Amino acid sequence: MKFYSTKRQAPETNFKEAIFKGLPEDNGLYLPESIPVLSEDFIQNISNYTLPEIAFEVASKYVGDEIPEDKLQSLVAEVMNFEIPIVQVEPNIYSLELFHGPTLAFKDVGARFLARCLSYFVEKAGEKLTILVATSGDTGSAVANGFYGVEGIDVVLLYPSGKVSKIQEMQLTTLGKNISALEVNGTFDDCQKMVKDAFLDVELKKEKNLTSANSINIARLIPQSFYYFHAYAQLEDKSKPVVFSVPSGNYGNLSAGLLAKRMGLPIHKMVASSNINKIVPDYLKEGVFNPKASEMTISNAMDVGNPSNFARMYELYGESVDAMREDIQGYWFSDNATREIMREVYDRTNYMLDPHGAVGYLGLTSFINKKDVTGIFLETAHPAKFKDVVDDTLGESIEIPSALAECMKKEKQSTVIEPGLESLKNFLLDNK
Ligand SMILES: *Cc1c(COP(=O)(O)O)cnc(C)c1O
Repeated sequence: MKFYSTKRQAPETNFKEAIFKGLPEDNGLYLPESIPVLSEDFIQNISNYTLPEIAFEVASKYVGDEIPEDKLQSLVAEVMNFEIPIVQVEPNIYSLELFHGPTLAFKDVGARFLARCLSYFVEKAGEKLTILVATSGDTGSAVANGFYGVEGIDVVLLYPSGKVSKIQEMQLTTLGKNISALEVNGTFDDCQKMVKDAFLDVELKKEKNLTSANSINIARLIPQSFYYFHAYAQLEDKSKPVVFSVPSGNYGNLSAGLLAKRMGLPIHKMVASSNINKIVPDYLKEGVFNPKASEMTISNAMDVGNPSNFARMYELYGESVDAMREDIQGYWFSDNATREIMREVYDRTNYMLDPHGAVGYLGLTSFINKKDVTGIFLETAHPAKFKDVVDDTLGESIEIPSALAECMKKEKQSTVIEPGLESLKNFLLDNK
């Protein structure tokens, strides 16, 4: 499979080059030159396939012969070694629980796939590599975990100081070994810009073999479509139109759902569920894409003012807002509404939503209203990752899973730096 840049000013590449570069030279985003369609037979019989089997079927279409079939088969089996169940919350409404991986958030899936693909190629070529990651919380720990202890690969995490939860911060800063954490005196958008600028810096490019593991990397995106297929496979009744609601920040998860739809998964509608950082819902409503500074909310992994994957969505719909509106409906919700629904759903059904899943639930129920459809919202993180908010909202102290409790006992190790490319560059060049 060949990959092209959404800006069309960079050469097409193969899978390996696209994942090592992360970003094409023209600062666009990679997309597959054509989206492969799975056979009708496979979709019809999808309930007979396990998650690793589905993952292999999807991944092999993009990877082609760049990773041998048997290698890819074991690679995706390693990536997908945890469950992604759908859980019925009420009639016609399911939660797709994406938080059963090692860092309890959906980003494990993309990060683990990317890590294992990169290590396959690094090992083969004997190269050295530095992974740069800007994180609003969950990406960093998922990526760090995916790469922890991998020979020949260093990971540098950038996170906004004071703007991630205590637990998230401990997950980011307690690993050590080949993982460094930079605590940036700024916002997530600052971190994201520093990473983008680093990739475009000529001097750094000479000194360091840099790649990205953010949701902009195509090898993060591709595996995130696995679980849309797997969710559908788990539905006992497939007779009604299926709607997915995706609590969104950088819109990687939602874009992966769009890929799944183009690959032949019968998705009736995608719901873009957002907090007050409602750039995409506003675009769908008004037809103008107007990035802003991000605002802090209780669903902090979605506090993104300039969603990077929007360029992919725009491209997938031929730059037409009307075409996008056919497939995607946008909603946004305040923190108050989010807290209220967390309480309401917990009281009524005993199902515990995290603040992000709660936004997804709200978007889904807003869309469904009285429509006769099957709705699935993505529960993107375990509620315990946002213990402060969840405890405060539900008025009880929820239990912390043992994996999280372990890292809370360790010592935080981070380097505080100011926003801007200069300070990042200094750190990278000093730590060769
Ligand atoms: C990253 C994240 C999101 C947003 O996902 P995008 O792909 O950036 O839209 C939502 N919820 C949680 C818990 C996250 O970590």
